[in-house]
Amino acid sequence: MPAYLSKQSSILIVDDDINLIHMLSQILKDFGRILFATGGEKALEIAKEQKPDLILLDVEMAPMDGYEVCRSLKHDDAFGNCAIIFMTANVGMEVEVACLDAGAVDFIAKPFNPPVVRARVRTHLRLKHNSAALESLAQHDAMTGLYNRGYFNQAIESEYRRLQRHHLPLGIALVDIDYFKNYNDSYGHIAGDATLIAVAKALELATKRPGELVARYGGEEFVVLLPQVDKSILLQYGLMLCETVRALQIPHTASRCSQHITISVGLSLMTPSQDTSPSKLLEQADRALYQAKNNGRNRCQFFAELA
Ligand SMILES: [Mg+2]
Repeated sequence: MPAYLSKQSSILIVDDDINLIHMLSQILKDFGRILFATGGEKALEIAKEQKPDLILLDVEMAPMDGYEVCRSLKHDDAFGNCAIIFMTANVGMEVEVACLDAGAVDFIAKPFNPPVVRARVRTHLRLKHNSAALESLAQHDAMTGLYNRGYFNQAIESEYRRLQRHHLPLGIALVDIDYFKNYNDSYGHIAGDATLIAVAKALELATKRPGELVARYGGEEFVVLLPQVDKSILLQYGLMLCETVRALQIPHTASRCSQHITISVGLSLMTPSQDTSPSKLLEQADRALYQAKNNGRNRCQFFAELA
């Protein structure tokens, strides 16, 4: 059974007619987890908590009709990106247009033809699943599974703006594997890839606070976004990253600073404001990383203005 037709999918049925909910639950029971609501308010509550993949939504309900529920769902990111199929007894061009204008992906006429309901639900679950998979592919680095640079750039922009509103600090760590070119030259690219994956995994395991995000920044470069840290937490984190990678004990006889794979880390920290920018924060981390390398690698360095 494909993933989109497994228990991973959830379908919310919203109708003020409980008999109709029973009937639809029977028709769709093998398509995933079935949730239901008999009114608009309850539907919004469930949608917010459960973020269903698909919502079958009755148009004719009172006091809150289907259009109003749909507008609320489409207006607020908290509901996630669910697909909505309207169900209505009033078929006609105008209703069809109104349904699609309100943000629905499809509509189904009442009374139902069960095979048609199943076919449409199956199609929209598949589309939903495919678009989620595409979105995930676009955000991740295929080799390490970490977020990619494009996603990181979006994340740092939005974190920067969020923390600027709250006058809270934002830290970043720029990480580079020491003498990685030498490693590839002496151990080969297959071993090189395995080492990148091992280091990526170690960085991810070492990065645990909510809101923190590890991304692959370039070839052997990684970057970590660290919201709401102070200088001492950031320094501790940098030291811990270096230690975590050393503890992997991946042999590297071509390294000029150790017998094993090590990293250099550049750290920078600022409270976002209008006078500065995410790229300034990155530039400072890059300069700190350069210093860490100049000072012998296998260490972390905090960016300091006069250093
Ligand atoms: Mg109704």
